[in-house]
Order: sequence, then structure tokens, then C-alpha cells
Amino acid sequence: MREVKKCGIRHLVFEGLSGCRRLRHGVSLRRQEFGEFDFSRGKSEQAGDGSDQCSSNLNRFCQALELDEKSVVQARQVHGAKIAVIEEAGQEPGLADGLCTKIAGVPLMMVGADCPLVVVFDPIVQVLGMAHAGWRGTVEQIVRRLVETMADKLQGRPEQMLAGIGPGICRKCFMVGEDVITEVMNNLAEAEQLIQPIDNPAVQEVQSVRGGQRRWNFDLARANQKQLMAVGLAKENIELSGCCTFEQIVEFPSYRRDGKSAGRWALIAGLAKKTKING
Ligand SMILES: [Zn+2]
Repeated sequence: MREVKKCGIRHLVFEGLSGCRRLRHGVSLRRQEFGEFDFSRGKSEQAGDGSDQCSSNLNRFCQALELDEKSVVQARQVHGAKIAVIEEAGQEPGLADGLCTKIAGVPLMMVGADCPLVVVFDPIVQVLGMAHAGWRGTVEQIVRRLVETMADKLQGRPEQMLAGIGPGICRKCFMVGEDVITEVMNNLAEAEQLIQPIDNPAVQEVQSVRGGQRRWNFDLARANQKQLMAVGLAKENIELSGCCTFEQIVEFPSYRRDGKSAGRWALIAGLAKKTKING
């Protein structure tokens, strides 16, 4: 990913998606000139008086991305695997951890606080999707379901899709217990390549949250990359952010680091409406 600054707003864009005409997208960074960006309060929770911090953050970010704030569709994320297909402006997606649409002028939005957010785009059919891929969504194969929905319902073609796996907690920072490992082993292909036992007793001692329990590292980004490839995307069309939300304290909130008070970053992506100029 690459950092850009537009309308005074610092954010990240995927290199592979930044050349797509009509696609506008960005991942928010916390540190801004005016203070901190935080998207922990959802669009629907915002009072209409314009004074709300998150509302103005959403407004600022949408302006920078040249997207219409009022048309933003945000799902209520529940670490599930439901994909909502947005077929008209103003549609309420409800509880969902995946969104996809073909409609121009209806930006999609998700928030994260360690879980990677994944964006998928078919530049030929102009189908856009995104998913919230924490460990629960990942073992339920949310990105596979997203791509399949984009193909079945919106005529997208996986072989021409581009994807970006956004910032999230990295493999070495993401420690999980036996419960997660069991789910990973039961649900994901080549699971052994995605996990690594933490065998160093010193590391175990310092980092183990629940004393005495065996812990593993789990690679969320790679798990989602493999899932996208298994469903037909080309490896060269999948970009990994290379960012760790746990380590990059200044730029990202992290649930594992900051606990319940952690803020949220946002991924917003939308198709610009056709105009006479850009066709
Ligand atoms: Zn890390």
C-alpha cells in the first residue's frame, strides 16, 4: 500500500487498485493534522447535527476520496460470514461481514481494530466487494463467499478480479489458543502453513495471556490470500498491506493492544458515477 494525502487527509491506497478508473478507495490512518481519525461510531449512530466527531471524520474522509458521504452503506459487523448484496441506494445491509455492489455512487464502508478488511474489485464488470476477515470470518471463509457472491449475483469473474488485503494484526503479533487452532485446522486448506507454535518459553512467559496454555501464531493475511487464490484470483492480483495494526501504534487502533477503548479505522470504497467527461 502507499500513503497519499488528499484534501489534507492522510490515508493508504492499494497500488493495484489505484489505477482503476472510477474506483475510489482508501484505508484511514489515525494521525491527522487536525487530530485523530476514529470511526468507532458507525454511520447510523451519528446524530444529524454535524457536530459529531465521527460524522465529521466520515465527511472529511469521503471528501478526500471524492465519494458521497450521505450514500455510504455500512454493515453492522458481527464476525459472521453473511454477504449483503447492495442493489439500490439507501439499502440497509443489516448484520453482515461482507458487502458487494455494482451500483455507482454507493460507497461501501467497514471498520477494523486488528481484523484485516479485504477489498475485491472486478475492473471489467465493475463489481466491488469488501469483507471483514478476523479469525472467525476467515475460518468461515468469508472472502471465498464474497467472491462467489460477486460472481453468482453480480456477474463478476474471479480471474479478472483485483484484491487488497488491508492492515491487520500480523502473524507474529497474533497469538491464538487451542480453540482457534482447532477451527483453523478443521476449516482451512493447508492450515499447517498458516500457524506456528510459539515454542520459545521466554516468549510464552511474557506474551501468554492465559498462563500455561499453549499458544500459536496465526497468519490472517496469508490465510485470506490463499482463500482468494483458491477461488480463482491470480496471486499477482492480490496485494497485501504489509502493515501491522498492533505494532504501528501511531497509525492504527488495535483491539489486542488497546482493549475495549480501541478506536476503529475505516476502509471505504466506491464507484464514481459516470460523467460525460470520464465516460
Ligand atoms: Zn505485528
